[in-house]
Amino acid sequence: MSKYWSDFVHQLVPYVPGEQPKLARLVKLNTNENPFGPSPRALAAIAAASGDALRLYPDPDATALKTAIAEYYGVQNDQVFVGNGSDEVLAHLFLGFFRQNAPLLFPDITYSFYKVYCGLYQIDYRTVPLRDDFSIDLTDYISGNTSGKHAHNGGIIFPNPNAPTGRPLPLADIEALLQRNTDSLVVVDEAYVDFGGETAIALVDRYPNLLVTQTLSKSRSLAGLRIGLAVGQRPLIEGLERIKNSFNSYPLDRLAIAAGTAAFEDREWFEQCRDAIVAGREALAAALRARGFEVLPSAANFLFARHPQHKGEQLAAGLRAEGVIVRHFPRPERIADFLRITIGTEAQHEALLSALDPLLSDA
Ligand SMILES: *Cc1c(COP(=O)(O)O)cnc(C)c1O
Repeated sequence: MSKYWSDFVHQLVPYVPGEQPKLARLVKLNTNENPFGPSPRALAAIAAASGDALRLYPDPDATALKTAIAEYYGVQNDQVFVGNGSDEVLAHLFLGFFRQNAPLLFPDITYSFYKVYCGLYQIDYRTVPLRDDFSIDLTDYISGNTSGKHAHNGGIIFPNPNAPTGRPLPLADIEALLQRNTDSLVVVDEAYVDFGGETAIALVDRYPNLLVTQTLSKSRSLAGLRIGLAVGQRPLIEGLERIKNSFNSYPLDRLAIAAGTAAFEDREWFEQCRDAIVAGREALAAALRARGFEVLPSAANFLFARHPQHKGEQLAAGLRAEGVIVRHFPRPERIADFLRITIGTEAQHEALLSALDPLLSDA
């Protein structure tokens, strides 16, 4: 606290990221990083870009990166926005699109940064409960739907697949929402879509009320570089560019632009790592179910699981004592017994399971 702070800073409740331990040799399955390294072509691009040119500012438009993304998804360059991590892209779009006269809607159990941006930008919001099976029911969100609970909204945002549950939504449900909720913007946060979800980017040309965000942190293994993107129709991208150019002209540095471009060009590496993570996810889900866990169906690079006989908090602490870190959310109550476990390598899964077994046997 300081008397020099602007008033609103006293009310901010910042996001708390998962632990980034200083100790080496921990089995780190807590922040959904990719266990396989970045594309070798991305690393080579960083090496090539780190030289005398670093004295020069980067391309403020990150044109090379936008071109690679546009080619990958078959959209136009001016339908792509990039930022310093998708968290920054989200921050800009909350400021630019969600400060409305009606509340923003998002699920009660979802990415906890959404609430934080609402606090930062003083955006009114309502949370919409997940169904009992932890899936999102988009009919609850439809504006103008007389049976819908939220006839007026200032925007809608949800991750697909949702975090931290991992459950995906069918594209048809999203399209139905877009068709019926035309007066406010719908943002689909696709941080995990590459691991088994269906991207809504295919719908962008038909729906001016749709914006899709993605990140290179998870499926492209570049969390350390901070690169995120949004795809939408031009007026939405123009709005984001206005915010960005009123905040920081150069959110992506030269190394990030070079590596991000190469990462999108190297499809083979991307697909190989993604397939290994999906296979690892199914194997780990089976191993956890065999030990009595309830595991939600996941289309992401993590599992959300609880054991009927064990408290989530105790399992997380017991694993931590053995050098295995997973994510545990004490609130809300409904998910307090779940562990969110990032998909790692086979060796990491073996370490997890051997740390888990003694904890499960002392019931
Ligand atoms: C990881 C994550 C992000 C942020 O990704 P960065 O690009 O690393 O900032 C955004 N949304 C969700 C749902 C995430 O899980």
